[in-house]
Amino acid sequence: MRKIKVCLDAGHIGPTYNQSPVVKTYYESAMVWALHLKLKAALEKRGFEVKTTRAAIDTSMEVYARGAAAKGCDVFLSLHSNACGTESVDYPVVYRAYDNKEGADALALKLAQKIGQLMGTRQAGRTATRKNNAGGEYYGVLRGARAAGVPVYLLLEHSFHTNTAAAKWLSLDANLAKLAEAEAELLAEHFKVTAQPGTQTPIMGRAQATAQQMALYCRSKNAAPQLSGCTLEMLAQTFLTEGEAEGVRGDVAFAQSLHETGYFKFGGIVQPQQNNFAGIGALNGSAEGQAASFPSMFIGVRAQIQHLKAYASTSPLCKPCVDPRFALVTRGCAPYVEWLGAADNPTGKGWAVPGEGYGESVLAMLRGILAQSVPQAAQPAAPAVPDWQRAGLETLAAAGVINSPDYWAGKLSQNITVGELFGILGNLVTGTLA
Ligand SMILES: [Zn+2]
Repeated sequence: MRKIKVCLDAGHIGPTYNQSPVVKTYYESAMVWALHLKLKAALEKRGFEVKTTRAAIDTSMEVYARGAAAKGCDVFLSLHSNACGTESVDYPVVYRAYDNKEGADALALKLAQKIGQLMGTRQAGRTATRKNNAGGEYYGVLRGARAAGVPVYLLLEHSFHTNTAAAKWLSLDANLAKLAEAEAELLAEHFKVTAQPGTQTPIMGRAQATAQQMALYCRSKNAAPQLSGCTLEMLAQTFLTEGEAEGVRGDVAFAQSLHETGYFKFGGIVQPQQNNFAGIGALNGSAEGQAASFPSMFIGVRAQIQHLKAYASTSPLCKPCVDPRFALVTRGCAPYVEWLGAADNPTGKGWAVPGEGYGESVLAMLRGILAQSVPQAAQPAAPAVPDWQRAGLETLAAAGVINSPDYWAGKLSQNITVGELFGILGNLVTGTLA
């Protein structure tokens, strides 16, 4: 999927440009520099591609050139706080294209109102346009962005730094973080960006669960899984082994199987003896047994792993293909578990159709697996040590041949090394001769 590209412009240059006349520690240029970096991070977290107009707070660049730098981007934002001669004026305003190109006013208004809400401004947020004498955009940055063909370009005034409350509010870093998150969220809604790398669960990668955790979790939900010719532990281990061979998370695939088979109760279209653990080839409305069958548990798991790899990656398979439906998948269309349901996938494709919430169901099971603490195997009881051996230790300790009886008392049923034996015998001889 193509990423939405944003170009962010911190409106003024240097650390101390446009001082607030009412809050002397406030400088518009410093605020917008900090804000645009936070906004960049908040947008990237949501899956946007973000560039900024200037490399450093002191980097000089003409306004028109800054707008033009957004060439190729979907949206350009220039960040500011406003100024006027009246202290009581306190509202955010977002300037948008004078001809409302791309219906920018809707987004501009949402942003202005949200900023006003967060800042608690005296007057509500609003949008505006401004033309120069030639009939073009008044603001150089917007003129540059328009000339570069940027579809949506906005100039955001975060209320007025000539107002005391606004300038104080904008002086707090935590408030700028709130602004950045809120603005990024509105942009994500507007551009329908749902990708949040980092919060999503890649299907490719190393498994985090052990086979024991996988089996334990399954058994906690279904004490008698319907497996043909293998144990639950063997099946779980096979998921891990086959997954590793293709770079697919075997624990994710196993969780998917739990979801698809109802913890291996089966009872749907697929029968246990088909060795088909994820309903490959079973379509909604199919008759019983009308789905792919595999000659063994191993091949069934391999086919599922390969089918997942088809969705999650564009890399070639490492083992010969046993998945009868591999070629039908748009390679790499669902790299995340969250995207396995077509309804939840921005590409509209997926393992399950419509599959709304399918990925979340699989993830709930994966979380259940990872929460399993594997009980430590009971320590085998130390073999009883006959009394005559204990008595021998006490005698040797009393005679000074053994100097650390507690140490040796803990090793009575263990092997002794040649060195230890010689040491003890040496002590014995020395003691006898003394
Ligand atoms: Zn400004």
